[in-house]
Amino acid sequence: MLYLIMSKIKKYYLYIISGILFFGIVYNTPNSNKKEEKNMNKTVKTDKEWKDCLTPEEYKILREKGTEMAFTGKYYKHKEEGVYICAGCGDNLFSSKTKYDSGTGWPSFWEPISGDKIKEEIDKSLPFVRTEILCNNCGGHLGHVFNDGPNPTGLRYCINSVSLDFKPKEDK
Ligand SMILES: [Zn+2]
Repeated sequence: MLYLIMSKIKKYYLYIISGILFFGIVYNTPNSNKKEEKNMNKTVKTDKEWKDCLTPEEYKILREKGTEMAFTGKYYKHKEEGVYICAGCGDNLFSSKTKYDSGTGWPSFWEPISGDKIKEEIDKSLPFVRTEILCNNCGGHLGHVFNDGPNPTGLRYCINSVSLDFKPKEDK
């Protein structure tokens, strides 16, 4: 009898201890993440976290450097005024003022909204070397930049629609 009571009490202790541990984890984790994000001022996520917050198509292009089929994206013909933001982290990337029709079937811009929003990397995945464009905040793959763009920069930022979201200009 005494043994039975003791084992029941033990069970309750286990519940209480695991409860405390669980709440400790739940309450501590978001805070420490927030601190990290603030300190680094960049969006850093694990592969699993990206999989959870992106669609499979967004994950394939942003995180695995895929390319959408030309003439299929939602923004290659898009002409509204506003700002194109990163589909991964929401950072401002391109203004509609620098968008032009390059005839390639991908949204094309001659300049990013500011140079520090974009990270460039050498891409040797094809026989010819290209310059890959990534979001400087979250590291998401956006597309490539080429030297056959219009004035005033002569650059063509060739971007996947999937990597972008659009914020229409607010009428004031
Ligand atoms: Zn981003």
